[in-house]
Amino acid sequence: MITANARATFSPEGPFKLTTIERRDLEPHDVLIEIKYAGICHSDIHSARGEWGPVQYPLVPGHEIAGIVSEVGSAVAKYAVGDRVGVGCMVDSCRECDSCHRGEEQYCLHGMTGTYGAIDRYGQYTQGGYSTHIVVTEDFVVRIPDGMELDAAAPLLCAGITTYSPLRHWGAGPGKKVAIVGFGGLGHMGVKLAHALGAEVTVLSQSLKKKEDGLRLGADHYFATSDPETFKELAGSFDLIINTVSAKIDISAYLSLLALDGTLVNVGAPPEPLSVDVFSLIGHRRSFAGSMIGGIRETQEMLDFCAEHHIAPEIEVIAASQIDAAWERVLASDVRYRFVIDISTMENE
Ligand code: NAP
Ligand code: ZN
Ligand code: ZN
Repeated sequence: MITANARATFSPEGPFKLTTIERRDLEPHDVLIEIKYAGICHSDIHSARGEWGPVQYPLVPGHEIAGIVSEVGSAVAKYAVGDRVGVGCMVDSCRECDSCHRGEEQYCLHGMTGTYGAIDRYGQYTQGGYSTHIVVTEDFVVRIPDGMELDAAAPLLCAGITTYSPLRHWGAGPGKKVAIVGFGGLGHMGVKLAHALGAEVTVLSQSLKKKEDGLRLGADHYFATSDPETFKELAGSFDLIINTVSAKIDISAYLSLLALDGTLVNVGAPPEPLSVDVFSLIGHRRSFAGSMIGGIRETQEMLDFCAEHHIAPEIEVIAASQIDAAWERVLASDVRYRFVIDISTMENE
C-alpha cells in the first residue's frame, strides 16, 4: 500500500482535515501520479454534503487532477515516469459494454467508477484529488500537452470536458447561436470553448456583475436573468443552450429562448427535480437534454484543442488549508472562475 496525505471531510458539514489515505500497490497497468494541483468543482460540494445521496466518510473529493507520473506498473505502455498527466471524474469502467466500446466510458452500462466516493474493481472505496498521490489504470489517464501549465490544466479535466462534449455533440460552430447559463467554473469554460469553436456566444448570468469578464473571455453578448426583459428580448433565439447552474431554475423560461429545433442541454446537477412545461418544448420542436463529462478519448481531444487554441481556465490557486473558505465562495457564486488547490501545501497549517 502507498500512503498519501490528503484533505478529507468527515461529515456533510466539514471542515476539511489533514489525514492519510492508502492507495493500492501498482497493478501491471497502473500509474502512480504525484498530484500537483486539484481543481474544486461544485460537484465536490454536492457530493460531499450528501446532496446527491448518502456518502461514506471520511471523503477526499477532487476530480480535476493534474500531476506527474512517479512510478509505472510492469505493463504500462502509454506513460513513463516524469510524464505530465491528468485524471478527471472517472478512474475505471467495465470496458466491455457498448458505451465503453464507443469510448463513452462515462455512460458505461455497468456504471463507471468515480474518482472518489465509489467502490472500485478491487473493492476499495475511491478517494479523490485533494491528496498527494493517486494510483490509476493507464487507460483512464490523459496526457497534458506540452506548454500547458499544470495548475491551469486541472479544471479542464471536469469543467473543460463537461462543456466541450455537449458543444461538440450538438454542433456548436460558425453560424450557431449558443447561450451559456451560469458564469462559474463550467460556464466560463463553456464561453471560451464555444467562442473558439466559432459560435456566437451569449452569457445568461444572474446579474451583470461579471459582464466585463464575460466579454473579455469570448462572449459576444451578456444578459442578466434577473431582468425579465432578457426573456422577452431573447425569446426564440438560440440553437443551443448549455445550462451550468448548480441550483434549481425555471427551465421552461430558458426553453422559451430556443429557436426552432434548438436544444437545451443541462449539465448543472442540482439535487432537486426541474419541472418542464411541455408547451415550451412542443411549440418549436425543441429538445431538453443532458450530458455528463466526456469519454477518455474526447477528454484528450479537448486538452489538445485547448493547447492548440491557447485556452486555459481563469484560476485562483489556493493553499490546502483554504478549501473550506473556497467552498463557501463557490456556494456564494463568488468564484472567478475556478479554485485550484496547490497540493504542495497539503501538510501546511
Ligand atoms: P459554479 O462554479 O458554482 O457555477 C455555477 C454558476 O451557476 C454560478 O457561478 C452562478 O452563475 C450560477 N448559479 C448558482 N446558483 C444559482 C441560482 N440559485 N440561480 C441561478 N444561477 C445560479 O459550479 P460549477 O463547478 O461550474 O458546476 C455547475 C454545476 O454543474 C453543478 O451543479 C455541478 O455539480 C454540475 N456539474 C455537472 C457535470 C456533468 O458532467 N454534467 C460536471 C461538472 C459539474 P452566475 O453568477 O453567472 O449567475
Ligand atoms: Zn466536476
Ligand atoms: Zn462499460
